[in-house]
Amino acid sequence: MCSSVVLLILRRKLGRDSQALVGKPEAGNVHASLLRALETASPGARRLFFSHQIKKTAGELFHSSLTLSAKRKDQTDNSRDGSLRIRKEKPCPVEAPYVPPRPKPPVEARYVPPRPKRPVKSVPDRTIEIFDGMTLVELAKRTGQTVAYLQEILVNTGEKVVSEFDPISIDIAELVAMEAGVNIRRLHSTEGAVLCPRPPVVTVMGHVDHGKTSLLDALRQTSVAAKEAGGITQHLGAFVVGMSSGASITFLDTPGHAAFSAMRARGAAVTDIVVLVVAADDGVMPQTLEAMRHAKAANVPVVVAINKCDKPTADPEKVKIQLGSEGLPLEEMGGDVQVVQVSAVKKSGLDKLEEALLLQAEMMELKARVDGPAQAYVVEARLDRGRGPLATAIVKSGTLICGQHVVVGAQWGRIRVIRDMVGMVIECAKPAMPIEIEGLKGLPMAGDDVTVVQSEERARMLSDGRRKKQEKDRLKIASDERYLSQESDTTEDAPEKPQSVELPIIIKADVQGSGQAVRDALKNLNSPQVFVNIVHVGIGPVAQSDVDLAQACRACIVGFNIRSPPSSLGLAADRANVK
Ligand code: GDP
Repeated sequence: MCSSVVLLILRRKLGRDSQALVGKPEAGNVHASLLRALETASPGARRLFFSHQIKKTAGELFHSSLTLSAKRKDQTDNSRDGSLRIRKEKPCPVEAPYVPPRPKPPVEARYVPPRPKRPVKSVPDRTIEIFDGMTLVELAKRTGQTVAYLQEILVNTGEKVVSEFDPISIDIAELVAMEAGVNIRRLHSTEGAVLCPRPPVVTVMGHVDHGKTSLLDALRQTSVAAKEAGGITQHLGAFVVGMSSGASITFLDTPGHAAFSAMRARGAAVTDIVVLVVAADDGVMPQTLEAMRHAKAANVPVVVAINKCDKPTADPEKVKIQLGSEGLPLEEMGGDVQVVQVSAVKKSGLDKLEEALLLQAEMMELKARVDGPAQAYVVEARLDRGRGPLATAIVKSGTLICGQHVVVGAQWGRIRVIRDMVGMVIECAKPAMPIEIEGLKGLPMAGDDVTVVQSEERARMLSDGRRKKQEKDRLKIASDERYLSQESDTTEDAPEKPQSVELPIIIKADVQGSGQAVRDALKNLNSPQVFVNIVHVGIGPVAQSDVDLAQACRACIVGFNIRSPPSSLGLAADRANVK
């Protein structure tokens, strides 16, 4: 068969004469016909046959299957047809109008709106309340485990096994409960303790650009202590405004709903009153409503500060009507929410705002135990090059004394130094005082509780237990999320699932709070097309280790409010192709 193909080629190459010479090839005599044709052909034609081109074509054809040859023929025919068509459709010389190329989407994948996420119920929902002096029987009832099981945990933690009716300390109860897999809330009894009035802790919330930061700055400058100390220069995350009357108000210096809800999510009910800032020239906006919802959910009373009243376009009355129609019971309308008109820029109305806050605090009868071990909450944490991890905390009750051993979230340490808001070293801190603690072994998170423990051993044990529990919860959340995503892949439009691009990111921020906020903001960018993978969140400037980590996981580094890295590090990052 192959020879017959050569014959056909030969006929085509040798021209019309060869038709007569070669004749019609028949099965069996093809080789003979080929030889005859070559013998009788003119010398020129013979040369042509043996020319390189013919040899090559024949060789190719001898070694290729017939189907392949047929395919090739088809292709050449098609291309010939195509080229003909192209020649026919050649555009006329008339100049066509320029059509700019359509911009390509950054990710070449079909847009699929994000599906509403199902809440991941990973962490055991059960939270039990524990207190000092509870018995194992009581703990077994609350955890839903047997006394024998809890006693076994006690043995494993190296604690002395007590009778099931003996009182155990709150730290031991926490350890056992965590091992049993439940979340705990510590109850601090005030029975028999002397309660003293304490200053209110205030958070400022409102829509962006309505003047929250300006108002906090203006209030900070009104503080008597700040004036005496020549102003508050350091950013602590909280400050106290002391008035000439001797009364004081503690302001959380972290405006924004993210900080407020992050603290609440970690069980830190630090805020007593919310100042809702509304710009008089802008009125009620989406984040104003969001702030109202947050305050309502936290059951925290609101004082409205209508800001920017110095502006000619200001219309405070309109703002009041808007707030009233949104369901906020203003005092003027027969409700109990006070409204104050202020100007953060002109510093007017600030005294009235402070008076309103003190009145609200008086109505709430805020009191706290002053004696005994302190209970405090972390507001912000940062890493200082010389001083190590620093945590800003607000004491809720009791007195925090320098030298005490503390467990802060999953971290522990011995308090080396306590500083007040103007940076002065103090011996102890009383309720509602914002302080900076030095001496922790690691960085805690905003909203972590500060618990005073008896010894270093107890502090280590409790922090180890908490870390183990955190890790267990984290793994459970991760496995639940994976399970949910696999489930949705198999159940819903799995074949149409678009290709997702992973974006690994390393975050470096000045303080823990900012780091968490940036992490949450970036996580919100997750979509079916882009999966934001936060590889690491660190505090402090970008270091060589961050560049190494970024190179290893092909991540980019996002810095927030940190010093720009040295040029050598920039060069190293360029070399490693790290953005
Ligand atoms: P935040 O985003 O709510 O923290 O708002 P900022 O405090 O950053 O303020 C946003 C803008 O409003 C800034 O340009 C301020 O100067 C301006 N601003 C804040 N308070 C006042 C005020 O009382 N009067 C006037 N005229 N401008 C103000």
